[in-house]
Amino acid sequence: MTQQDSVIVSENAQDTSGGVMVVENGGDPSLLAPLPPNKALHRPVSVQGVMEHALQHRERVGVQDFVLLEDYRSEAAFIDNLKKRFNENLIYTYIGNVLISVNPYKNLPIYTEEKARLYYKKAFFEAPPHIFAIADNAYRSLVYEHREQCILISGESGSGKTEASKKVLEYIAARTNHLQNVETVKDKLLQSNPLLEAFGNAKTHRNDNSSRFGKYMDIQFNYEGAPEGGHILNYLLEKSRVVSQMPGERNFHIFYQLLAGGDEELLRQLKLQGRPEAYKYTTDMMSHQSQKANDVEQFRAVRDAMKVIEISEVEQKAIFEIVASVLHLGNVKFVTNDKGSAEILSHDANSGNVGELLKVNPTKLREALTSRTIEARGDVVNTPLDLGQAQYARDALAKAIYDKHFSWLVARLNASLLPKSFDARSSVIGILDIYGFEIFPKNSFEQFCINFCNEKLQQLFIQLTLKQEQEEYLREGIEWEPVEYFNNIVICDLIEAKLIGIISILDDECLRPGGATDASFLEKLNMRLDKHAHYKSHRKSDIRTQKVMGRDEFCLVHYAGEVTYNVSTFLEKNNDLLFRDLQSLMCTSGNNIVGDCFKDLDLRSKKRPETAITQFKNSLNELIKILSSKEPSYIRCIKPNDFKAPMQFDEKLISHQVKYLGLMENLRVRRAGFAYRRTYEAFLERYKCLSAETWPNFRGPARDGVQKLVEVLKYEKEEYRMGNTKIFIRFPKTLFETEDAYQI
Ligand code: ATP
Ligand code: MG
Repeated sequence: MTQQDSVIVSENAQDTSGGVMVVENGGDPSLLAPLPPNKALHRPVSVQGVMEHALQHRERVGVQDFVLLEDYRSEAAFIDNLKKRFNENLIYTYIGNVLISVNPYKNLPIYTEEKARLYYKKAFFEAPPHIFAIADNAYRSLVYEHREQCILISGESGSGKTEASKKVLEYIAARTNHLQNVETVKDKLLQSNPLLEAFGNAKTHRNDNSSRFGKYMDIQFNYEGAPEGGHILNYLLEKSRVVSQMPGERNFHIFYQLLAGGDEELLRQLKLQGRPEAYKYTTDMMSHQSQKANDVEQFRAVRDAMKVIEISEVEQKAIFEIVASVLHLGNVKFVTNDKGSAEILSHDANSGNVGELLKVNPTKLREALTSRTIEARGDVVNTPLDLGQAQYARDALAKAIYDKHFSWLVARLNASLLPKSFDARSSVIGILDIYGFEIFPKNSFEQFCINFCNEKLQQLFIQLTLKQEQEEYLREGIEWEPVEYFNNIVICDLIEAKLIGIISILDDECLRPGGATDASFLEKLNMRLDKHAHYKSHRKSDIRTQKVMGRDEFCLVHYAGEVTYNVSTFLEKNNDLLFRDLQSLMCTSGNNIVGDCFKDLDLRSKKRPETAITQFKNSLNELIKILSSKEPSYIRCIKPNDFKAPMQFDEKLISHQVKYLGLMENLRVRRAGFAYRRTYEAFLERYKCLSAETWPNFRGPARDGVQKLVEVLKYEKEEYRMGNTKIFIRFPKTLFETEDAYQI
């Protein structure tokens, strides 16, 4: 279908015209009001009351693109527009080419095959705002214009990022249905989700299926536009969840799924009793029963996914042995002996089970859990651990095994998603589903990492969108007008600058032999950064606003707002220590996955392994490099309430997110230039009826037709620009007036 003969369906025409209303020829749904029933658009028309109808419509369901909002600086108007649309089940709205999505917390009939077809080969303005429009646009730019794409999805926990990423994947799978021989690849791509979610997602207060890791997935296409493979990068699994969870939350799904869904024989082999209450790491009693049926079902889905991904029976067994051994490890109990050191009771079966499942020497395992070998000036000394240290070692081992095995699983998926043959002409669409900005009552090392990641992505957003804008102006031969905006590079530098940034100071403290503590780290921060405009020490506590900071806290003024971090455990988490004895023991594991995961750690190397934050920083910079080389699309997800409930729109909660997502700034920058642009063909097609000179058909180039139209419509010189292929309109008001003229 070409643009000329395209059919436009107004997104909520159903409620006014009693059936889906089809408007002929090149309409514009971001403005389009459905006409009253039976008023066909044959020109010229004069329908009394139509204009009023158009205004009423806009009043009721808001505008589909925020750039058309008259009062674009007002957050209240912004939220009001979102609310109007949300109440009409219209969860998508654009800011230019950024898609805002509000989680409906209910299944809407907007993802059907029929709906999907509406977006095939359509320009943004040809169909109502939708995630499918983003997906289709990315797909077409890739296949027809050979520009690599990435879709960046952000938003807070529970806002719908993962669901959005799945919709993109599903759309692309459906979109490429006509192409041959891609079924297996598509199945594998689609099945990677349930598998990764089982191991990397968990029930939290904010989301029953919360992703506890960041994910970037490339879908690789061959020259015909058929998916031929994929690649996943994973970021920062929340491994602390393996050993403890907040009351009412759960460990990673797979533990419960295995216990509920594993058959008798499997559980016997793994020495497991089928009850999560029996294990310390899964003891939260509250929600198990109600979720059991679901866990059983999901376990089946995981096993099916493993089959599709071609994970062999032997590998599956090794994976479940790891999951089970983590559970057994959590139950290993220590007592203090008469020398004050930790000991494992001789009748304790748990450590024996771990030894057996991981195929390591059980005596050595007990030793490694209760003592430590230290090399000092060539002497090797074995020191016993006290109770606290032994518990720490046990939990550190459980976290390390689970974390490494998760990364192994991603690598295994990648091996399965590798294209069958090398094709230099292939290209990718990347999808990023990564944690949004976090501000909790108490923020720690994890929030620091996550918020740093969001600063970097915001920086990329600024660079790429401004670049995109500038390039479009250049392409169209329109003079670029500089736009003022807040550049958060100062905050990125504050965090990651060499030698003087927070990460550098933290690493120095972690590497400093003897005496370094969380407190000494904070003292250095305060000493060196107190004058920085985006850093606040407790000395800068503002008593008037009741923002009184503790002496173990510092505050960063992020682009999205102020966040106070508590430094307690920063050093420990950054060092991420696993005692060497446990590491060397795991290298000897007869469980192939564990053996593989630990063998790369070179124990003889004198060089210290990179700290957690430095590893994260490096992988983030890698990611930014990958994304910078692609053309981005943005999806900003919003959570409408804290109760996972449909039809509830909590304005205060949403206002916070509008700030964290930088949406007002985004809109302001978009409006600072020419808010609205349209190809000459599309503009002429829609408005040609407004002048006798262009109606019914304009003979000549579309640009000349548009020129005629703007003269007839009496556009002021400042209101518009004529580019090489598009007309640029500065104020939405101009367009609305044109639109209203059109409606009459
Ligand atoms: P987290 O950061 O915790 O991983 P998230 O942003 O990935 O959160 P999702 O898991 O995608 O959030 O969404 C949370 C829940 O909201 C889903 O399980 C689903 O119930 C509901 N939901 C999200 N998007 C939609 C949608 N488009 N339609 C219907 N329900 C949705
Ligand atoms: Mg998620």
